[in-house]
Amino acid sequence: MKGFGKYWGWAVFAVLIVAWLTSDFGPGALLVLSAVSMAYFFFNAPAWCGAVGRDGPCRNNSKGVLMGCHLRQHKWQKLKMVVIRHRWRQLARELFPNPTTTLATASGILAVLSGIASVLQPFWGKGW
Ligand SMILES: [Zn+2]
Repeated sequence: MKGFGKYWGWAVFAVLIVAWLTSDFGPGALLVLSAVSMAYFFFNAPAWCGAVGRDGPCRNNSKGVLMGCHLRQHKWQKLKMVVIRHRWRQLARELFPNPTTTLATASGILAVLSGIASVLQPFWGKGW
């Protein structure tokens, strides 16, 4: 079971997918599952930092695709890019540096969409 502690978010994400497929869960549960997996992928999942510096993308490990590595400058660089719109193209490059990080980023985005969808469910005549 070593390493599971780092990857627990994938289990939550799997439950979220099953929840959507079976629609056995209420929108409240979907929202909580979405929020938890989103937080995991953005702030906790093992990923690469990927902040672009003078020597190309940073290869340090980071916690979560939005957090950057232990270098404080890289953390700021990534957070700033989320806010500054003309940097989004660069941010995209930093969020998709390798398959693992790409998967975590894509899943994080899916979790966001799933959270929005669960909030909007009443408008489709479902839930709440
Ligand atoms: Zn870094």
